[in-house]
Amino acid sequence: MITIRHITVLGSTGSIGVSTLDVVARHPERFRVAALTANTSAKEMLEQCKRFQPRYAVLLEEASADWLRTEVRAAGLATEVLWGVASLEKVASLPEVDIVMAAIVGAAGIRPTFAAAATGKHVLLANKETMVMAGRIFMDVVKQNGATLLPIDSEHNAIFQSLPQHFNGNLGLVGVRRILLTASGGPFRKTPLSSLQTVTPRQACAHPNWVMGQKISVDSATMMNKGLEVIEAHWLFEADPEQIQVVIHPQSIIHSMVEYIDGSVLAQLGNPDMRTPIAHALGFPERIETTVTPLDMFKVGRLDFEAPDFERFPCLGLAYRALESGGNMPAVLNAANEVAVESFLGSRMPFTAIPEMIGDVMQRVGRKDIATLSDVLAADAVAREAAHEWLACFA
Ligand code: NAD
Ligand code: MG
Repeated sequence: MITIRHITVLGSTGSIGVSTLDVVARHPERFRVAALTANTSAKEMLEQCKRFQPRYAVLLEEASADWLRTEVRAAGLATEVLWGVASLEKVASLPEVDIVMAAIVGAAGIRPTFAAAATGKHVLLANKETMVMAGRIFMDVVKQNGATLLPIDSEHNAIFQSLPQHFNGNLGLVGVRRILLTASGGPFRKTPLSSLQTVTPRQACAHPNWVMGQKISVDSATMMNKGLEVIEAHWLFEADPEQIQVVIHPQSIIHSMVEYIDGSVLAQLGNPDMRTPIAHALGFPERIETTVTPLDMFKVGRLDFEAPDFERFPCLGLAYRALESGGNMPAVLNAANEVAVESFLGSRMPFTAIPEMIGDVMQRVGRKDIATLSDVLAADAVAREAAHEWLACFA
């Protein structure tokens, strides 16, 4: 018999949120939507409320929530509309909720994602920024509260699938030598270095294989996304930085690999569609159906691999540096990157200034130990301030 599981989708109007609801809608016998949340997209949220009839809908701003509440009532729905960060935390930790999809973009996702872990949920982690900012602290909260962490990032989901089911955080114990973290190389893998200075936000967001939110699309173009994923893999799988090898694989068919001491390399393959890792984590440990196009090997034809180019993609080196320094540095890297990406998207600085700003901010803020979530949030705030100062000098 299938038991119905109740789910909260944090960031339900985003790229991952919409893909999650697509999978959920196909399995009404398995899932009920308890709560949906978004930043400002009230109209989209109204449509989602009509379709999924959640108990709660949360928006960040009071004014958008007021509008939504009126519309929800007019539509005769029983959904309760709330607003603010405390409400995000509330719906991430409701007693009746089994699964929380953490799919808010950026540092804004950290508090509700922590709330889900602290109440022992199945946490489906798309919000990699939480892991980058607060890896050790977050993993401790997961363990202490009996939460189950399931990676949604396609690479980490592939690694999870390629590890033995009894893996408990010790790679040596299960005979793993290395993790091979694949990366497409993004839209600028072959662009002449001299042209990177003038690439536009539109070009940066045109990812060759994946359709994603704007922030992660720019991160993929700078390869900061892979840098954040190296840090994410370090905490998720307790892998040393030297045990994580980035491999450029332009087709995005292999989603990552695990190399064992006997010479075996296990990989997970599939068409690049986030509904596959989402369905894997939603159904775990069972497999559930999606409408993802099955992989046609004859159409794929060939798979290519290259070493990463640290000169073309300085953000990758900055992420390794932040990981090796530890303490506040990954949170500082993440915050500076968020400000840099936003400034690039707003045409306030060129693409090539992104790594310059991040490197300078890391140096200016300096390394400090961190022990609590408040320390992490303080490091985030200090780095944002330094990034805005940097931007003021730049402009
Ligand atoms: P997106 O921009 O498409 O959606 C973000 C969602 O978060 C939206 O629902 C938005 O309303 C909400 N949101 C934004 N700012 C918020 C705030 N301040 N407070 C509350 N809610 C806020 O982003 P996405 O591409 O879906 O990415 C979401 C997360 O998943 C990111 O951390 C990203 O790195 C990760 N991820 C995405 C993909 C992908 O294919 N899109 C793949 C792997 C990992
Ligand atoms: Mg990824």
